[in-house]
Amino acid sequence: MTPLTFTDARETVISAVRTGRATPAIEEIPLQLAAGRVLAMDVAADRDTPALARSVRDGYAVRASDVPGELRVIGEVRAGERYAGVLHAGEAVEIMTGAPVPEGADAIVMVEHTSRANGHVRTDRPAEPQQFINPKGCEARAGEVVLRAGTRLDYAGLALLATFGKSVAQVYRKPAVAIVATGDEIVEVHETPAEFQIRNSNAWSLAEQVARAGGVPHILPVARDTAAHTREIVGEGLKADLLLLSGGVSAGKYDVVEEVLASFGAEFYFDRVLIQPGQPLVFGRAAGTFFFGLPGNPASTMVTFEIFARAALELLGGSDEPSLYMPWARLARPFKHRTGLTRFLPARLDADGGQVTPIQWHGSGDIPSLARANAYLVVDPERAEYPEGELIRVLLK
Ligand code: AMP
Ligand code: MG
Repeated sequence: MTPLTFTDARETVISAVRTGRATPAIEEIPLQLAAGRVLAMDVAADRDTPALARSVRDGYAVRASDVPGELRVIGEVRAGERYAGVLHAGEAVEIMTGAPVPEGADAIVMVEHTSRANGHVRTDRPAEPQQFINPKGCEARAGEVVLRAGTRLDYAGLALLATFGKSVAQVYRKPAVAIVATGDEIVEVHETPAEFQIRNSNAWSLAEQVARAGGVPHILPVARDTAAHTREIVGEGLKADLLLLSGGVSAGKYDVVEEVLASFGAEFYFDRVLIQPGQPLVFGRAAGTFFFGLPGNPASTMVTFEIFARAALELLGGSDEPSLYMPWARLARPFKHRTGLTRFLPARLDADGGQVTPIQWHGSGDIPSLARANAYLVVDPERAEYPEGELIRVLLK
């Protein structure tokens, strides 16, 4: 198969999953458990919001045409009550933020711009009609859809559910994601590896990446580098909503993952992408389940999950627009690379995200360097050199 560019591979994943996914099942959950979940319903306002015209400042409700000038204070209105009377020309009502605007008033004068004496308030400034007033229904009209199905609920989404009285929400069931590490050299974390063995770290990074992206990780036993054993574990993994394999997708004699997937009648969309880390990268579908064969080097597994598998998982979880946020930052030192591949290199972004420094590392297996990084530099495949201070894209970790 011809290798794809980073952009083409990402588009391939998104369009294949978007068209091939089944609608996820829906479940109803209480508001307390809704954070991070993907809405399966449109949320409509249950009333005009605000329900009455509200003041957005502490100050005085007035008629705009009465100021500048001195007005008689006829009462006060606080948040949580309504002023019973009507305001006439020459009058003001003291008002607190959030309180309903009294009938007859059409502007709020900020308390900071007033002085008060003997039951009168004075302001030297003019007022625009409607200033510091949120009219009834300006945020939402009763019945208006305020958040759409497919939105992942963040803290403001929770505030919205609470505002409109939704103590339960319909959300999409989280996709189950099978995680299969492969390799004869891999032992589990509680085991003591011989010098020629390594502990299974990919299952752990992937499980966290899956959970963060809204999936439920299921770590399966390590598949050994034989077709028979890998077939057994892959058969199990294909029962999930998404299967992630790490390792076994290079051209080595014992890299059996592709042939095993083919034996399940897999359709392959690509098996090589022009990126580093992560060139040998398999994406396809077998028995109705999408799968990724991620290269086994820890950096490759981490990066290829973030830039490809996360989008697939988000779509399977009912999200509509998988995003890959890659803001710009200034390089703290000059940078060179060989063109042809989009590179994702561990880096430290400073506290305000303005400046980025590449981290010294010893290649895709260097987990201590990866753990110190908080971002990846995203290096343009067509550009060989970046001077110090140049803007470069960054993928947050
Ligand atoms: P592979 O893609 O199978 O050729 O693996 C590439 C490298 O990644 C191997 O040298 C392994 O040391 C490493 N590796 C593979 N699987 C894992 C894993 N589950 N955890 C940590 N390192 C791994
Ligand atoms: Mg291997």
